[in-house]
Amino acid sequence: MHELSIVSGLVESVLDFVAARSIKKVLGLRLCVGELTHLETEQLRFCYTAMTEQTAIHGSTLEVETVPAEVNCAHCSYQGPPKYWDEALASAPVATLQCPRCGLTAEATRGHECEIKTIKYVT
Ligand SMILES: [Zn+2]
Repeated sequence: MHELSIVSGLVESVLDFVAARSIKKVLGLRLCVGELTHLETEQLRFCYTAMTEQTAIHGSTLEVETVPAEVNCAHCSYQGPPKYWDEALASAPVATLQCPRCGLTAEATRGHECEIKTIKYVT
């Protein structure tokens, strides 16, 4: 599962953060996740709860903020949201790297991020 390795890296960096400061309790963190990562919010949260259970940050919550994808097309100089596919198995339309104007492959300028935005804690 893709989500598992992502969350494992996240938990590690939060634990480092906590260890480096005199933090009593981490309340939660907010993640910015780009649409093009195709990470499932529910999966991320499930993995987070499971992986923090035996650690100093157990009981903290994970909030996921979705960052919409944006592309830049070198062929027709389009800039903006990419073409979306309706996929039967997905709960929402899936962002692609296709230019909605000319149909060629565009370059993503946004949507690949997966980073911690804020960490809420008490000292
Ligand atoms: Zn184009």
